[in-house]
Amino acid sequence: MNHFDVAVIGSGPSGASTAFHLAKKGISTVIIEKETLPRYKTCGGGFVFRGRKDLPFDITDVVEKEFRTIDIYLGEKLHFKTEREDPTISMIMRDSFDNLITEKAKEFGATLLENHKLTKINFEDDLIILETSQGKLSANFVIAADGALSPTAKLAGWKEDTRKLIPALEYEIEVSDEDFKRLSKEVRFDIDAIPYGYAWSFPKKKHLSIGVASARRTKINLKKFYKEYLTTLGISDIVSESQHGFQIPVSPRTDGFVKNNVFLIGDAAGFADPITAEGISNAIYSGKLAAEAIIESNQEKDLAGKLYVEKIENQLLPEIKTGLWLSKWFYEQKTIRNLLLKKYGQRFSEAMADVFHGNRSYPTDIKKTIKNKIKELVF
Ligand SMILES: Cc1cc2nc3c(=O)[nH]c(=O)nc-3n(C[C@H](O)[C@H](O)[C@H](O)COP(=O)(O)OP(=O)(O)OC[C@H]3O[C@@H](n4cnc5c(N)ncnc54)[C@H](O)[C@@H]3O)c2cc1C
Repeated sequence: MNHFDVAVIGSGPSGASTAFHLAKKGISTVIIEKETLPRYKTCGGGFVFRGRKDLPFDITDVVEKEFRTIDIYLGEKLHFKTEREDPTISMIMRDSFDNLITEKAKEFGATLLENHKLTKINFEDDLIILETSQGKLSANFVIAADGALSPTAKLAGWKEDTRKLIPALEYEIEVSDEDFKRLSKEVRFDIDAIPYGYAWSFPKKKHLSIGVASARRTKINLKKFYKEYLTTLGISDIVSESQHGFQIPVSPRTDGFVKNNVFLIGDAAGFADPITAEGISNAIYSGKLAAEAIIESNQEKDLAGKLYVEKIENQLLPEIKTGLWLSKWFYEQKTIRNLLLKKYGQRFSEAMADVFHGNRSYPTDIKKTIKNKIKELVF
């Protein structure tokens, strides 16, 4: 049976980036991936600049388009535009993007076992034994980077799923040349195009990634709102269309991120941004933090787990927790929110652009700020 210091389950941005940082330090690392790479992943493929800054290599080859200007719409009347020097959002397709990070990890010696589905985890003495669809292997640490469904978390003993998972639909569509020319000029977010959520139009090289997500778990006919959104965008002619539905975990687990030397990162941990549901940048960041913890502890098991939790608590959770509060208010208090956006929409959009660039996080005194702004409006 082969043995590795670290086994990473999943080759998405979280797993591939952990493997990259570990392999670079000479730690023997295996990535176990159930699909054959490159593989399609349901995602808008909007990669914000703070995530791009966090990757220690160039990704130009897999960037389909870059947008320095972002357009946020609220209904037909309100439209806010922000502009930055660096690309606020880089458009990527996840098959080539995830594959690139995995290839970078392999360059430093990480082993990729694709077409290997993790099926069972056993804890024996001081080792973790992993059973896959193609045989067994052992590891000292396991990184669960296997996304929103995270079978690893279940197999490793997380009994309940304490994350909030929201539904999202993504369509890859080809439109007429005329529509593509018109729509490929802007990356746009439409707040309220769907109840308790937003719709997006993300232009790729030759097609559009259009999607809808709702912050409520209640049954909402996502497809109906997608169709309505096509009308908003003025699309009547669809040349080709493929539909992909999935869930996005927009709140962190409340029952821990480490158990028996198994670390949860990315969507498996519930680290997507609660307001935008943007998950790639925190997936990469949490992967880096997990790798740092293992490296800094010299692979001492208890210390590595402690360091990872400390890093998450200090460097990631405060922003997500504020985001959670803000997202509840943003999506549930529509009337007050829209009144505030009417007055402060440009300021809000600038703040979001700064968050996308990693130049600021959500302000921790946000509750107070919003209360004061409401008072200003009402009295
Ligand atoms: C419709 C939609 C649109 C989105 N749009 C955006 C966006 O525009 N920008 C953004 O930043 N985020 C977006 N997200 C969120 C983003 O896709 C996720 O946050 C991100 O993919 C999380 O990365 P990850 O590495 O944690 O997991 P994933 O990317 O899900 O990777 C998990 C990997 O684990 C593998 N795996 C699963 N089970 C097993 C198993 N048993 N054995 C072996 N391997 C396994 C999978 O095949 C996969 O490769 C969107 C999500 C959805 C659903």
